Amino acid sequence: MVFQSLKRRGYVEQPTPLQKLRRFAEKLNGANLWIKRDDLLPFGGNKTRKLDYLMQEAVEAGADTVITASTNQCCHNGILLLAANREGMKSRLIMESWGRPKYDFSCSPEREMYRLAGAEQVETISDLPSGPVEEIPLARKMAEEVRREGKIPWFIARGGAGPLGSCGYVRAAEEMVRQWGSEEPAAVVCPCGLGGTQAGLIVGLKRSGCKTRVYGIGVTGKSTAVMEQSVREQCRELTDFLEMERVPEDAVCCIEGFAGDGYALPYKKQYECMQLLAETEGIFTDPVYSGKTLAGLVGLLECGKLDPKQKTVFLHTGGMNLYYDFSSLKGLG
Ligand SMILES: *Cc1c(COP(=O)(O)O)cnc(C)c1O
Repeated sequence: MVFQSLKRRGYVEQPTPLQKLRRFAEKLNGANLWIKRDDLLPFGGNKTRKLDYLMQEAVEAGADTVITASTNQCCHNGILLLAANREGMKSRLIMESWGRPKYDFSCSPEREMYRLAGAEQVETISDLPSGPVEEIPLARKMAEEVRREGKIPWFIARGGAGPLGSCGYVRAAEEMVRQWGSEEPAAVVCPCGLGGTQAGLIVGLKRSGCKTRVYGIGVTGKSTAVMEQSVREQCRELTDFLEMERVPEDAVCCIEGFAGDGYALPYKKQYECMQLLAETEGIFTDPVYSGKTLAGLVGLLECGKLDPKQKTVFLHTGGMNLYYDFSSLKGLG
């Protein structure tokens, strides 16, 4: 598949800004830091870029109901619900409880948001099944119900993972390359959750002939080895899908040690980094993804793995909708 010939829905119309972090960088001994503002995408988050491609496939298949799963405090279910509404489709969502304490959806602010936007069905499960969404018994049951109503269901992978979803970040990489022109940075620092964002960036920068290194900060508590193996595999799938030369193994660099006690559990040093960015630049990061990535960026500068004199770009993937609190709407709908 040739990248340029891939169709997308057009959810991402304009490049998100690439800005210099002057005041934040001053506090970090004058490091040469920039930020890519994907938090400014509609509803914030890298899921919008992935769904730009993934929903095209659903529309072309004639689907009228999308089914997906994701963990609590991941933007995927919410952003898919909004994208489905835009396409006139229904959505059935599975919330997988992950992290401590166990997530209670019935009391979560997300619940009212899903109700407000009219999700057809939202169910919670208390474990994280390892296989694809279409193998979760509950998801199969949802699909059967949809078919029985004479409608056409469509599964969307958890977190928008997979080569087509990652194309959203191949495109983002090309966008950044146009923005920085001849001033190529030494590094881009991004979150590594399932790793599709990082894989897309690595492949996209390679496609553009860039030597910029991509560091994926682990946000879930997985080891470097486990993350790197997964991101390498996703890079292989993506380059095969795009009929491109594979990227070398050492192009994949994941960093453990900044996830605190695990997924969705923030910690003090992370809080301080989030506070510094908010105080110096007026930019919020979220507790689950971008806040930990920011803590990783600061940590890599402190330990000398990133050279403060060399240009570094922090990819802010958003996650801000995690902050919305619709709980005051409870009982109205
Ligand atoms: C899902 C998500 C991530 C993780 O992206 P992966 O491609 O799964 O690594 C990062 N940031 C935000 C805001 C997210 O919602």
